[in-house]
Amino acid sequence: MAFVTRFAPSPTGYLHLGHAYSALTAYRAAQAANGRFLLRIEDIDQTRCRPEFEAAIYEDLAWLGLRWEAPVRRQSDHFADYGAALDRLIAMGVVYRCFKTRKEVLDEIARAPHLSAAGPDGPAYVGAPLAADEERALLAEGAPFAWRLSIAAARDRLGAAFETLSFLVEDGRAQRVRARPQIFGDAVIARKDSGTSYHLASVHDDATQGVTHVIRGEDLAAAAHLHRLLQALLGYPEVVYRHHPLMTDDTGRRYAKRDKSETLRALRAAGETPALIRARLGFR
Ligand code: GLU
Repeated sequence: MAFVTRFAPSPTGYLHLGHAYSALTAYRAAQAANGRFLLRIEDIDQTRCRPEFEAAIYEDLAWLGLRWEAPVRRQSDHFADYGAALDRLIAMGVVYRCFKTRKEVLDEIARAPHLSAAGPDGPAYVGAPLAADEERALLAEGAPFAWRLSIAAARDRLGAAFETLSFLVEDGRAQRVRARPQIFGDAVIARKDSGTSYHLASVHDDATQGVTHVIRGEDLAAAAHLHRLLQALLGYPEVVYRHHPLMTDDTGRRYAKRDKSETLRALRAAGETPALIRARLGFR
């Protein structure tokens, strides 16, 4: 069976040990399966991503001993593709415009928590499209809006298939998990600023690139529920998910972009070798 996996960092800072662990996990899995390993640059957030961080990703991963296929897919080159996928969701009637600010959404959740979904990060917003005349007025004013996926409309669209939607998780053993995308409420699928979202771009790219195995940190485990729904709506193939534990430092804290001392370049400058780093992360 074909095995295609990827490492998909966002160039918002230098790679640290947590990234190295994630990249090596995917890379070694591809090697073990005699499969393919792809690198994808997830830079849809143009305010936070920087070209020097992208260049550093290539340099640091190559230094670590990884090799990947060319060309590398860079998401900022594909906004039109994500727009086309969004257009399909619009045509299906499963998304609606949301003009609310972040604060208005939070206030609304606080006012009516019983209407919200119990999400992985607390209550998630469930809304509804505006009345046509109200929406027309806001559009005429040029008010900015995001597109939200309506869980109710998605459920109508998929019918019985919505209730039986599931995905395969491999974490030591293989396990089929019932997809519960409703935990995200009506998720933002296209943001006001970028016209897409991590969810839409990632699911679209995995399908376009023929990814069969999504290997990433367990902080993104819940996202699989929403991603499975997007795959079903857009007619994209299923993928297998492997969510690995997040690396922590000696004090049990997760590595994060703020830990400057643990970036691969800082470690390299301090004289560490790729072999030492691989060993430190449990790879031979
Ligand atoms: N770009 C995401 C990140 O840096 C990874 C997304 C994924 O692997 O699906 O956290």
